[in-house]
Amino acid sequence: MEESKAIVLFSGGQDSTTCLAWALERFAHVETIGFDYGQRHRVELEVRPQVLGAIRNQFPRWERKLGEDRVVDLSVFGQISDTALTRDVEIAMLANGLPNTFVPGRNLLFMIFAAAFAYRRGAQHLVTGVCETDYSGYPDCRDDTMKAMQIALNLGMDQRFVIHTPLMWIDKAETWSLAQTLGGAVLVDLIRDETQTCYNGNRVDQRDWGYGCGTCPACELRAKGYRQFVERDATPR
Ligand code: ZN
Repeated sequence: MEESKAIVLFSGGQDSTTCLAWALERFAHVETIGFDYGQRHRVELEVRPQVLGAIRNQFPRWERKLGEDRVVDLSVFGQISDTALTRDVEIAMLANGLPNTFVPGRNLLFMIFAAAFAYRRGAQHLVTGVCETDYSGYPDCRDDTMKAMQIALNLGMDQRFVIHTPLMWIDKAETWSLAQTLGGAVLVDLIRDETQTCYNGNRVDQRDWGYGCGTCPACELRAKGYRQFVERDATPR
C-alpha cells in the first residue's frame, strides 16, 4: 500500500502548528506549505522555520516523517486585496459584520495552491487549521466552504483529495488541549513560545500565552483560550 502523504497548510501560528502535530501523528509523510501574500504580520513567515526546527529537535518520532517546507509567493494577491491584513490600517469591524482583516478568497486560493502542490507530490491529504467555532466569521473558514472546495478540487483536478480540518468544531481552549494530547506539555510550551498569531506581528512582548500585542482580535482569542485551557485541562508543570 502506498504510504499516506499529507500537505499541511502551515502559517507558523498556533492553529496550523497544532494541525501539523495532528498530521504527524496520523500520516506517514508530511510536508508543509506556506504563503507570502503580502501579509502585514510578516514576522509569521520568519517564525515558520523556527517552529519547524523546534518540532524536529523536540520530537524525534515526528522528525522522521516531516519532509520539506515551502513558501509560495502570492504577493500578487496583495495587488487586488485592500484589507487590514495586507495594508497598514487600523483593524475594525465593517458594516457587513466582518472585521477588515478579512481577505476575500484567501483560504480558497490557498487550498487551490496546496492541492496543485499535493498533486505534484502524490499526496492525497490536505490539512488546514480553519475553524468555525471560535473564529472571526470569515466565510471561507466554514465547514461547508471546505467541503465544497474538496469537491471542486477533486472534479477540477480529477483526484481524490481529502481536506482535513481537525480544528473545525473545537474552540481555542480545546485547540491547546489537543496539542497537549498530541505532544504533551512539551508541545504546548513549544506552541506557546514559538508560534505567532498576533495580527500586528508583535514579537517583542512575551506574555503567559506567548508573544503578541495583547489587544488585536487574534491576541484576544489566543489569550482567552490559553487561560481557559490552563484552568481546565493543563497538566501541572
Ligand atoms: Zn496582537
